[in-house]
Amino acid sequence: MRFASLGSGSKGNATVIQAGSLNLMVDCGFSLKETTARLEAIGLVPGDINMLLVTHEHGDHIRGISVLSRRFKIPVWASEGTSRYFTRDDIDLRAINVHAEYQIGELKVRSIPVPHDAREPCQFIFQTEDDCLGILTDAGSITPHIVAAYQDCKAMLLEFNHDRDMLMNGDYPLTLKNRIGGEHGHLSNDQSCGLLKALLPGKLKFIVAGHLSESNNSPEIVGAELNRLTQKYDYQFEIAAQHSASGWYEPDRLC
Ligand SMILES: [Zn+2]
Ligand SMILES: [Zn+2]
Repeated sequence: MRFASLGSGSKGNATVIQAGSLNLMVDCGFSLKETTARLEAIGLVPGDINMLLVTHEHGDHIRGISVLSRRFKIPVWASEGTSRYFTRDDIDLRAINVHAEYQIGELKVRSIPVPHDAREPCQFIFQTEDDCLGILTDAGSITPHIVAAYQDCKAMLLEFNHDRDMLMNGDYPLTLKNRIGGEHGHLSNDQSCGLLKALLPGKLKFIVAGHLSESNNSPEIVGAELNRLTQKYDYQFEIAAQHSASGWYEPDRLC
């Protein structure tokens, strides 16, 4: 299994997971033109995508979903609540039970309910016989269920949305600060480091920090936080960009 971020942050998110002949895309917050260009950067075309999985209905996650699904006849899977957002009946939409596990080719897919201000938001864990990748963004708090669910992950794409001081001292309106920093908002650097401390030392060996706020965080701050933890725990990390695709991450080769 390998994966790539096509971009991560409040202006758009998409992640591609490849296992055997299967290419799954989690979320698509980019236009078709942008998605096509970013897929090309990792050697794929939109027609290579077999399935679209949607975490929740916020624009930075679904902006490109319907057009991609219609144009290339790609099925869309989303939670019961999220699926109600899609009103057009010309996409192949399947409402999934967020408490169930699904086998897609060689991938076991689990959805994990998360506290976020959407209809029925969930995040995903992908498992093969040897590998386990967890995606976790857009969560306002770390629940005991999250800690338990991500325990087996060898690699994670994990939200590092904001530095709490930057958010609180910045110029966002108070209501927005409260939304982002609230229990159904986004994970702060501290919250995500807290999750890592709960998971490490363990199976986790590779972390991609994602969904960084361009106003209330920086790759330097996140890098410093993650570097600090590497003095105690053995893992490698990367930081996903908003405006460009990453290369393929192949955790097995890194670890
Ligand atoms: Zn988001
Ligand atoms: Zn969101």
